[in-house]
Amino acid sequence: MAFSLPELPYAKTAFHDLISEETFDYHHGKHHNAYVTKANALVAADENLQGKSLVELIKSSSGGLFNQVGQIWNHSFYWLCLSPEKKEPSGKLAEMINDQFGSTDALIDKLKAEATGHFGSGWASLNLDGDKLEITSYHDADCPIAHGHTPLLILDVWEHAYYVDYRNARPDYAEAILRNAIDWDFVAENLDGNGADRANQS
Ligand code: MN
Repeated sequence: MAFSLPELPYAKTAFHDLISEETFDYHHGKHHNAYVTKANALVAADENLQGKSLVELIKSSSGGLFNQVGQIWNHSFYWLCLSPEKKEPSGKLAEMINDQFGSTDALIDKLKAEATGHFGSGWASLNLDGDKLEITSYHDADCPIAHGHTPLLILDVWEHAYYVDYRNARPDYAEAILRNAIDWDFVAENLDGNGADRANQS
């Protein structure tokens, strides 16, 4: 098999009411796993695709294959962006946030607005653009890597990410996760520009 479902870096019960075990059972165990299974079937059926890394396939594919490999990368990166322990930005990342947005709360307000305002399924993203932080979003399976962007943090805004715990209330999900469950140490590590590699597989 070309790709595998990465293990979660925490217990599925670690987030208590913020993200339930049932959400992880479906989101990681069913949705993310289905992207892996479908990507592997497409790669197995085409010799030209074999031996390529996930990031190489994202950069060179379109259509059905792109949707699967983009979603494998997006989910793998998203799990790494989450922490069951509440953290705060520190060091250079905190300086950049304060210089550009005034405070972490103000940055989160803008990320939440991006997540809430994105119409339909997709991903809200905090990227590094040159020496600046940039907030944007990607639709469906689209992926920062496909555009040569440098992702620091992504938030899943597909309904399957929040419907079990928050029903239709995407703003409540974005608020709860962005304020309480972000691994800001991981976000800071991605300032080195190697975020794409952290969710890659080959
Ligand atoms: Mn998802």
